[in-house]
Amino acid sequence: MTEGRYANIIIDISHEKVDRAFQYKIPAALYGILDVGTCVTVPFGTGNRLRQGYVVEITDKAEYPPDKMKEVFQVVKGSVSMEEDAVKLAAFLRHTYGCTMIAALKTVLPIRQTMKPREKKKITRLVTKEEAVSLLGECLRKKQSARARVLSELVKEPVLPYELMTKNLGVSSASLRSLESQGVLSIEAESYYRNPVKLETGPEAGKVLSDEQKFIRDKILADYDSGIRKTYLIHGITGSGKTEVYLSLIEAVVTKGKQCIMLIPEIALTYQTLLRFYKRFGDRVSVMNSTLSAGEKYDQCERAKNGEIDVIIGPRSALFVPFPKLGLIVMDEEHETSYKSESMPRYHARETARYLAQMKNASLVLGSATPSLEAYYRAKSGEYELFTLTRRLTGGSLPSVYTVDLREELKNGNRSIFSMKLQELIKQRLERKEQIILFLNRRGYAGFVSCRSCGYVMKCPHCDVSLSQHMGGKMVCHYCGYETRQPDKCPSCSSPYILGFKAGTQQIEEQLYKKFPGVRVLRMDADTTRKKDSYEEILSAFSEGRADILVGTQMIVKGHDFPLVTLVGVLAADLSLNDSDYRCGERTFQLLTQAAGRAGRGEKPGEVVIQTYRPEHYSIKRAAKQDYEAFYEEEVLYRELAGYPPVSHMMAVLITAKDEQEGEQTAKAIGNCLIRETGKKKETADRIQVIGPARASISKINDIYRFVLYCKHRNYEKLIEAREIIENYLKQTENKLNVQFDFDPVDRF
Ligand code: ADP
Ligand code: ZN
Ligand code: ZN
Repeated sequence: MTEGRYANIIIDISHEKVDRAFQYKIPAALYGILDVGTCVTVPFGTGNRLRQGYVVEITDKAEYPPDKMKEVFQVVKGSVSMEEDAVKLAAFLRHTYGCTMIAALKTVLPIRQTMKPREKKKITRLVTKEEAVSLLGECLRKKQSARARVLSELVKEPVLPYELMTKNLGVSSASLRSLESQGVLSIEAESYYRNPVKLETGPEAGKVLSDEQKFIRDKILADYDSGIRKTYLIHGITGSGKTEVYLSLIEAVVTKGKQCIMLIPEIALTYQTLLRFYKRFGDRVSVMNSTLSAGEKYDQCERAKNGEIDVIIGPRSALFVPFPKLGLIVMDEEHETSYKSESMPRYHARETARYLAQMKNASLVLGSATPSLEAYYRAKSGEYELFTLTRRLTGGSLPSVYTVDLREELKNGNRSIFSMKLQELIKQRLERKEQIILFLNRRGYAGFVSCRSCGYVMKCPHCDVSLSQHMGGKMVCHYCGYETRQPDKCPSCSSPYILGFKAGTQQIEEQLYKKFPGVRVLRMDADTTRKKDSYEEILSAFSEGRADILVGTQMIVKGHDFPLVTLVGVLAADLSLNDSDYRCGERTFQLLTQAAGRAGRGEKPGEVVIQTYRPEHYSIKRAAKQDYEAFYEEEVLYRELAGYPPVSHMMAVLITAKDEQEGEQTAKAIGNCLIRETGKKKETADRIQVIGPARASISKINDIYRFVLYCKHRNYEKLIEAREIIENYLKQTENKLNVQFDFDPVDRF
């Protein structure tokens, strides 16, 4: 129960414009009865008409003279409503991540907007499956690739959403109309999201679970039946049957009359994934994604509230679909950074899901092939229950991995981007007509400086992160602001080859054409995927065998299945290790593990070549062996020693200003204020560590200057106190600069 004499109340919360909160006095009779989320009636406006509203905050701070304040009239009895849940959830976001209550409510509440549901078109196959197969053959012979793509989908499914063809598969509407005029298919309008797929057969039963899968399902359901609600983590490589476990859990929970939220990162929200859910649950399942309009989202929320759907699938925002009888939340690929919101409130779906599950008495199941340090740490400490799936269920063995030391290559006179081993294997694959993926791990591309002959990387003496190259031969630490000149010689081996690392996918493509004349290369990076749909187009071109080699950045390693790929080359495995960010070891391990997992998904065994300057680094060694456990042990030790999450907690404070000096001064003043306020505490253990301020890694955007401060403490609540100190300081000094907070950041500002 929250203490305080005043209540901030929002009158009409699901209105299009969530208006501001109004402050009321709490009458003595209601002390200790009101709470955040409580529905009350209050006198409102000049006529003091009684209106319903929701308490969003209880405080002791009067915003204007209390004798002018109206009083809360009464509590609305028996009003346990979805609105109450939403207000509680918003209050959680506000408290945990720092933002205004209005911003939090806007994140949580569906926007009420009356509009007609947008019509969606669907495509229905009019010929038999056999006829479609023979037409497909004909199109392939005539090299009519657009038609072939349509037919190969229609062979699999008799009814398909129109958008899948036009958007995802890049088929023009003219091609579809010509197939329609030939009587191969029909195009009709229907409300796609209400009934996305008509199935030829009825709902599909689940697979018979393996012993490992069954063990997990039975344990979670036994807990559920005896009233135990917990968080579970399923650790299992891709293809080990996690999704099948989710499906069977959801099925069981739905049978008990409960509802489920299935979280999937947006990038993995493919048609094939959705189909698996539709086949199992028919039109009791629905999708939430970023392409839905506000009206469609609202529509989904209404259907959820009314109990018309049992399961919602979607990215992090699907958490806010209001299910009155929520029983289970599943979060697949729990480690994905897209689960963290990039704007205020910067909430993490994992923590928010946990809060929601507790609030609604639901269970939470997390799954990943490479769990986040956060999740695994909690599993190890017993906060989550850990399960492992160890076998791939579809056959296909794990690939053999070679690690190549690039320093040795240079010593042996090979200055090419490709090691001798990789060149040899590429040649062999081209002869055998098998496919190759070359992955350039260039996240840490932001200009770190390293030695080409020994691999030495210039680091900040205070922060254990790499320095970034700036104009004029300067190197800067983005954590503490430390600056130094770039040396002429490597401090470690005196070689003059000390440079900022720059090798892009485009250079790789050019080198391939030179080294392997006649090779067909597709490139996928931020440049080639700028156009809408080009991402899907490149993927389908490659999976149809229209190229020998796919070159790309981390976009290519996520979740796609290319059965013909038998060789994966990771060109500079350690690039992401030089990111000036404490998560770079974790990210490198995840990327390499995923990249290696792309090889040998079909019948033929795969090989992986990891090229690196740092073959001895544990992230690289452990990824080469696909040994998560060993990686975790080393990484968590580093986090422990350096005081980083998940062992400790961290809050980033971003200060932005049009005027550079004003920004810098405010950042310094905030830092000083924090040190002053928290330094009062006698016990050092209670003190918050304040680092910075420094320029943000992107120090200026659109002529707005950015400064950043970091605070660390083992106790998350202490960081919330620090945030409140800053908020108060800004209020008192009437500072109008934009200040943002990011708790346990997954990315740098
Ligand atoms: P993950 O989610 O871990 O990647 P999936 O659940 O998608 O794994 O399973 C990978 C493949 O194995 C899928 O094709 C799925 O149909 C199949 N599969 C999963 N469980 C079983 C099972 N018990 N028996 C047979 N096949 C299974
Ligand atoms: Zn050197
Ligand atoms: Zn530093």
